[in-house]
Amino acid sequence: MASGVRGAPPQIHLAERLNGIAPSMTLAISARSRALRAQGVDVCGFGAGEPDFDTPEHIKQAAIAALQRGETKYATVAGIEKLRVAIAKKLATENGLSYEPGQIQVSGGAKQALYNVIMALVNPGDEVIIPAPYWLSYPEMVRLAGGKPVILNASEANRFKITPDELDRAITRRTRLVILASPSNPTGVMYAPDELAALARVIVERDVLVISDEIYEKLVYGDVVQRSIGSLGDDIFARTITVNGFSKAYAMTGWRLGYAAGPRAIIEGANVVQSHSLSNVTTFAQYGALAALEGDQGPVEVMRQAFAERREVIHRGLRSIPGITCVRPDGAFYVFPSIASTGLGSIAFCERLLEEEHVAVVPGQSFGSDEHVRFSYATDLATIEKGIERFARFVKRLPIHSTI
Ligand code: PMP
Ligand code: GLU
Repeated sequence: MASGVRGAPPQIHLAERLNGIAPSMTLAISARSRALRAQGVDVCGFGAGEPDFDTPEHIKQAAIAALQRGETKYATVAGIEKLRVAIAKKLATENGLSYEPGQIQVSGGAKQALYNVIMALVNPGDEVIIPAPYWLSYPEMVRLAGGKPVILNASEANRFKITPDELDRAITRRTRLVILASPSNPTGVMYAPDELAALARVIVERDVLVISDEIYEKLVYGDVVQRSIGSLGDDIFARTITVNGFSKAYAMTGWRLGYAAGPRAIIEGANVVQSHSLSNVTTFAQYGALAALEGDQGPVEVMRQAFAERREVIHRGLRSIPGITCVRPDGAFYVFPSIASTGLGSIAFCERLLEEEHVAVVPGQSFGSDEHVRFSYATDLATIEKGIERFARFVKRLPIHSTI
């Protein structure tokens, strides 16, 4: 050391807010399968939910052009005006939601948009209702804000959907927010419009707020119509924060672009959070997002059709395995089969599956159910077929217990 000052290594104590907060398991599993692949192992990866398609060319070109004409400076905290105008137009025409550009924040992925809104709304001790199975980052975001996640278990018999009565019973004086995702990660199920309307009635009557995570809205395959809960009336609109992004529909995961739209005061609060953390999303990347919204939507449909075909193959494959049951997903690119009959916990199950058969799936425990595992089928059909074959072979080796 140049100064010659010596001391014992420092004792590092992380902030208490990190107590019990797990790193993202979805990202960890993907990192693990990438590392195995780098060692030459033939891994069938069903880890993180990330489209295997590349970003459509016109979107890339728009960002390249923006970079070349010098869009390389700080931008408005909430996002460039043109992009917020385009998002407002999209939300009005496609979702029946009328937001002003001032009610929209562009952030570093839907993930950060959610985080900013939660930081802006949740006080220490406030309760946030999260239906389970849930996307694993929701409870951790609430905890990071000092709030209390209240996990509301949805029954598998009701296709992992909560009922209005269940929601009503979970709401207390401390409830601030409810977080809904439809289509859902990790189950892929969707609420039909009348089911959403029934939940909206409870939210309005009990006067709480709702975050509607609509990141998978364009990836729907069945008969269920996708609806934005905020479009179901003025009272629910006034209590809704709509979250969406570009990662899934436009295969733009690495770009880190998402947004939140909601009551002006909430978005302004989220902008304060963003002004002291991110400042703004990479300026030239925002022009890519603009092209995504304003350009040809053909590639979205091509990807949707590919996912639709994969859904059939993976769901049929899983259901044909003795001992495995699996709710049929309506959208997104996940399936959430039950492994209850194997008697193994989901972490042990996934570790053994990866070690013995080189198939990477995510333990259901991270999503609030230890009796399930999650497959992301955002991968090619050949990998899906091979992965299911290996999965079936693995399950066959386990003693199957009756779950009845
Ligand atoms: N919401 C849900 C339900 C998700 O699955 C994800 C992860 N893909 C996100 C939000 C965040 O997506 P991103 O930050 O890439 O926009
Ligand atoms: N949301 C995706 C998933 O659930 C990507 C990883 C993450 O952000 O958690 O796999």
